[in-house]
Amino acid sequence: MDNYINVNKKGILMYQTIDNKVVDNVTFYTKGRAWVEINLKHLKCNIKSLKSLLPNNCEIIAVIKANAYSIGDITFSKVLNENGINNFAVATVVEAINLRKHDIKGEILIFGYTHPFDFDLLIDFDLTQTVIDYEYAKLLDSYGKQIKVHIKIDTGMHRLGELSSNLLDIERIYQCNNLIIQGSYTHLCVSNSLDSSDIAYTQLQINNFYHVINHLKSYGYNPGKMHIQSSYGILNYPTIQCDAVRCGILLHGVFSKENETTKLKISLNPILSIKARIVIIKSIQKGDPVGYNRNFVATDTMRISVISIGYADGIPRNLSNGHVIVNGVKAPIIGDICMDQIIIDITHIHNVKIGDIVTLLGQDGNEIITAEEIAAKCNTITNELIACLGDRLEHIYLDE
Ligand SMILES: *Cc1c(COP(=O)(O)O)cnc(C)c1O
Repeated sequence: MDNYINVNKKGILMYQTIDNKVVDNVTFYTKGRAWVEINLKHLKCNIKSLKSLLPNNCEIIAVIKANAYSIGDITFSKVLNENGINNFAVATVVEAINLRKHDIKGEILIFGYTHPFDFDLLIDFDLTQTVIDYEYAKLLDSYGKQIKVHIKIDTGMHRLGELSSNLLDIERIYQCNNLIIQGSYTHLCVSNSLDSSDIAYTQLQINNFYHVINHLKSYGYNPGKMHIQSSYGILNYPTIQCDAVRCGILLHGVFSKENETTKLKISLNPILSIKARIVIIKSIQKGDPVGYNRNFVATDTMRISVISIGYADGIPRNLSNGHVIVNGVKAPIIGDICMDQIIIDITHIHNVKIGDIVTLLGQDGNEIITAEEIAAKCNTITNELIACLGDRLEHIYLDE
């Protein structure tokens, strides 16, 4: 099914039309070079698993910033919409408008700073802005028109949010007449860790948040929808009873790091695979260097192959000691990863042909390479690995 070029019944070479894409009247084969496959059935399973962990009346705010961590925010949000999720969060006003232009309904919360020059867009596109501190609340209020907001409280991460200790300034935010306050939230900075001092710090953050909320309520302010947890908060702090949770990485069916233990277990299905093609096969001799900087030198006669993907596609350059899967067999990456190409060792794999599909992330036969494993090799988290995949990768959505 996944042939480079299909041969139809009459023996004519044909591209699989289902994988073609037309841009400005030019038809491209989307699996020609490098692509990601996104399994929407798995996404639906992950939504189900997540829902089963949450209290009945707790809403999911799907975090689809950065093009849904590069996977495709429009497709993602449509599937989420169809599966009962009507709250979305993005980082920027541009991301939010893109969703509206594609007819995404429901609340769209912007986590980040929006420049006052763009405040009119918040109203025109019915967006919900985060109030990042009291100074910003004054700016929004002075715009003179009603703007929907969630108020962010900084309970200890010291990123965005008004400091939870500044109760007076926080009250003043809730007094702004032009703010339609629909929610209040905070963000936990070590909810992934089950280290006892990290648990204590997280508990302090949670207490700080409720201290602010109780104070506001006692003075008659309505905090709106409250939310504290993101993916790890959901798994490690399940006793928090909030109106909503903000979930990103779990929807992708992966953890941020390999072998992490969490209080709640969740059954996840990774949605992402990354694939490319074998484009050249050659033999080299003992002593021959491979790639930039001659960082690999053959210790024997070898068969090597170049595959059509590189660091501009988001394959981290420091994955150079990683491997890929070719025809169900693992093949080491050799030499420095290039911008558009990677060189691999296929000496031990005998049936490799030009055009064969190479799996960089995902399963092929009995072999599997996980996002967590690659992230660990590159000393990062899966969130970064996935979000930094390049625009040049084609997106193939599978629903089977
Ligand atoms: C990105 C982000 C999230 C989502 O985090 P995940 O770990 O991917 O679930 C939640 N809340 C805020 C404020 C964020 O910036």
